[in-house]
Amino acid sequence: MPRKKYDCLKCPGYCCSYPIIEVKDRDAERIARHFGVALAKAEARYFRMDRTHGRVMRRQKDEHFGRICRFFDTAERRCTIYEARPRACREFPGKDNCGYWDFLAFERNAQEDEDYISTTWHASTT
Ligand code: SF4
Ligand code: SF4
Repeated sequence: MPRKKYDCLKCPGYCCSYPIIEVKDRDAERIARHFGVALAKAEARYFRMDRTHGRVMRRQKDEHFGRICRFFDTAERRCTIYEARPRACREFPGKDNCGYWDFLAFERNAQEDEDYISTTWHASTT
C-alpha cells in the first residue's frame, strides 16, 4: 500500500464528526465485548437506529464540529475504542490521501498556524 499522505495524530478528527457512522452487527458485538456488557445494553448505550442507515453511533457535543462520535475523546482528539472501532472507521479513507486532511493542511498553511482547526459543522444535530 502506498505511503499515507495524512496524519491522524495531528488531525482534530473530522471523520469522527460525520453524522452517520455505521455500526454493523459484528461491530456492535465487538464493542459490547470491549466493554464487557451484553449486546442489548451496548445497543441502548452506544448506538441509535437511523431510518436509512440502520444502527449508527450515538454522538456527543463537540466544540469544533458541533457533534462528534460518543467514543471520541474531545480533549485529546482521539478515538477511545481504537482496537474495537467499527469497520467503517478502520476502512476510512480507503486510499492514500484524506480529503479532510488536504483541506486542513491547506488551511494551516494559509493561516501559517500548524495547530489551526477549521470547523465544519454538519447540519444534523443527532
Ligand atoms: S479526517 Fe482523515 S486525517 Fe483526520 S483523523 Fe480522519 S482519516 Fe485521519
Ligand atoms: S469509533 Fe472511534 S474512530 Fe470511529 S467515529 Fe468513533 S471515535 Fe472515530
